Amino acid sequence: MNKAELLGRWTKEKSEELYGIKNWGAGYFSISDKGEVLVNPYKDSDSVAISLMDIISGVRERGLDMPVLLRFENILDSQISYLNNSFGDAMRKLGYKGEYRGVYPIKVNQQQQVIEEVTKFGQRYHHGLEVGSKAELVAALSLMKDKEACLICNGYKDEEFIDLGLYAIKMGFKCFFVIEIPGELDIVLERSQALGVQPNIGIRIKLAAKAGGHWTESGGDRSIFGLNVSQVIEMVDALKERNMLSSLKLLHYHLGSQIPNIRDIRSAVVEAARVYAELVREGAPMGYLDLGGGLAVDYDGSNTNYPYSRNYTVEEYCMDIVETVMSILDSSNIPHPIIVTESGRTTVAYYSVLLFNVLDVERFEEYDIPDKLDDNVAEQIKNLFEVNKNLNLKNIQECYNDALYYRDEIRDMFKHGRISLRERSVSEKIFWNTINQIAKEKQKMKNAPPDLEDIESAIADIYYCNFSVFQSIPDSWAIDQLFPIMPLHRLLEMPKREAVIADITCDCDGKIDRFIDLHDVRNTLPLHEMKNGDDYYLGVFLVGAYQETLGDLHNLFGDTNVVSVRINPDGSFEFVREIHGDSVADVLSYVEFDPKDMLVNFRKTAEEAVRDGLISASDRREIMRAYDNGLRGYTYYER
Ligand SMILES: *Cc1c(COP(=O)(O)O)cnc(C)c1O
Repeated sequence: MNKAELLGRWTKEKSEELYGIKNWGAGYFSISDKGEVLVNPYKDSDSVAISLMDIISGVRERGLDMPVLLRFENILDSQISYLNNSFGDAMRKLGYKGEYRGVYPIKVNQQQQVIEEVTKFGQRYHHGLEVGSKAELVAALSLMKDKEACLICNGYKDEEFIDLGLYAIKMGFKCFFVIEIPGELDIVLERSQALGVQPNIGIRIKLAAKAGGHWTESGGDRSIFGLNVSQVIEMVDALKERNMLSSLKLLHYHLGSQIPNIRDIRSAVVEAARVYAELVREGAPMGYLDLGGGLAVDYDGSNTNYPYSRNYTVEEYCMDIVETVMSILDSSNIPHPIIVTESGRTTVAYYSVLLFNVLDVERFEEYDIPDKLDDNVAEQIKNLFEVNKNLNLKNIQECYNDALYYRDEIRDMFKHGRISLRERSVSEKIFWNTINQIAKEKQKMKNAPPDLEDIESAIADIYYCNFSVFQSIPDSWAIDQLFPIMPLHRLLEMPKREAVIADITCDCDGKIDRFIDLHDVRNTLPLHEMKNGDDYYLGVFLVGAYQETLGDLHNLFGDTNVVSVRINPDGSFEFVREIHGDSVADVLSYVEFDPKDMLVNFRKTAEEAVRDGLISASDRREIMRAYDNGLRGYTYYER
């Protein structure tokens, strides 16, 4: 213990523990001695670390407002290396004779910049791309240069899609058509013949193995994609019949995303490796075993098989896969294939951080109540008061029920005109004072009654923050996904408030009231008291996967500003790219307003107001300027 701790003072270590940054940060994030969040692009290296607060001042100096999405080039670079090196190490350790060729599935984050950087940083490992649609293939071909890397085409493919892929093969790319439904094979063969190009064919199989987790409907017998075993055999026969079995080179499955349990991963690999061995036995050349995505991110840092975590490390994932494939193929004397994985989430999740400021706070009031009530108040209010005075650890469930009961009765009485607004106000204070006491008593209990589970969020402060859940972290709203959230500074001060977060959409779903915790889920987030006039910044971490394009324009909050940061080995940093978020005119044009027409219409309205003598002509000029500024402004709260 150091001196500060002996004195019982708050320290950065206490903040680290409270927010779990070492558990979920994967070495990329930490807290500085100044109490600010640092990004360490090379993991754990103390030499290069940048404070997010320094980046915020740089962003501010350049005139960009919050919210801002930061992307760290170096983290993407590090994650690609980490994945490739982990497979490389596993193969070396186990004596695997094949290789690893990762591909990045474009759908996980389709931003041009992301794909460009993946192809750039991935080149030294021949890390390729996976596409699931024609648009993604077109995007991939504009950036792909490496002819050793794989280009895997999943999804439904029409003639145009197939022709494009065949031309890619002709130009020397390792492009594979993965057959997802039996009918696709005919078109692939037909087009290959027409263009005179030998296709590389893969099969996507439905596994009997099924994984637990949130996004795993893609696995199992009843999954919508892939061929079942009978269809696989039919396809092999069809290829033999046409003398095309030599094109069958790859076996693919995708069990689903974010698979928290390593056992599910292993049993899928066993099954797929067995199918692979059988296809070789049938006479197909094969050579590639593509295990899809699923490598999970430990969002809550608990290292468990909870849906937002994983009970394995990347190294263990690689070792398990390589070992399993080897043991099955060795027993049939089949050469080791090139192992392909389509890890998207793990590749990009750490890369982006969403930053925003707190706009306002609604504090939970710990109302003081009188020692004694007037004799003439309503009986129900007296009863509620009694509940409050008699509360103790033994009767908290009963008191909770009674307090709710009397509060509802009193509200009813108010509706019927039997008590005044002033009396109701007194009763509400007693009620909230009671709830607050119950919450305090509950903390002393080992096993609190289930009814009281959410009581903390009922008495939490509300921190209103400058962002939109729907736009920036849609999975938090849609499927209750948890992301690590914490203050970016003041981490040497004890956070004394318990809060829930509200965004500025004013939608009752535009909030966050579930937070990561090592053991369970927290209903509130400890935050610092707002100091008058000072900015207070929060960050949502690990938002690089799936969040950027799923976001929508709820309440017309548009894309946020995006800043790409490159951190240099000497510890300096530069903003390599700045993308301004949507303006109001931008988002309105997405819903088919024409900003020019809008100006014309509003000018007419203003002119009529001049004519009617409501405003002067120079007022009109000011009003039009304000309207024009409004159209050009950022959709979020500007300073
Ligand atoms: C979505 C998807 C992936 C990506 O999965 P992650 O779990 O994000 O790595 C890979 N392959 C296919 C076919 C997919 O649909």
